[in-house]
Amino acid sequence: MSCIFCKIVSNEIPAKTVYENDYVIAFYDINPITREHILIIPKKHISSIDHISDEDKDISAALFNAVREIVKLKNMQDDGYRIIINNGRAAGQEVFHLHLHLLGGEKNLGPMLSL
Ligand code: AMP
Ligand code: ZN
Repeated sequence: MSCIFCKIVSNEIPAKTVYENDYVIAFYDINPITREHILIIPKKHISSIDHISDEDKDISAALFNAVREIVKLKNMQDDGYRIIINNGRAAGQEVFHLHLHLLGGEKNLGPMLSL
């Protein structure tokens, strides 16, 4: 059974797509914590950073390239933005399909850590 983000990749469940290329897709988070809250995921199912393999170099690069493209599309470069990857239990990772949270659209994103 495929994971929820794989189902977004295969169009089995809908998402508000912001950007897509051969390697990655980006869509709005259903539970945004900032005005702009976009998730960027590899189309290939990779559970977490720990599961990236040496053959995935193009995918790793594509994730950061997608950040740059979306930042341009959404004009986020002037105010700035934050990238978060929750990886594993301590970070509260809920969906075990690697994803970058792109957070922006705010004048001040607050402190980095809330412990
Ligand atoms: P994480 O804690 O980093 O694993 O975060 C998972 C994120 O995925 C959360 O911010 C959820 O709101 C988001 N999410 C879960 N299901 C969906 C969905 N179907 N479409 C968009 N975002 C989702
Ligand atoms: Zn998946």
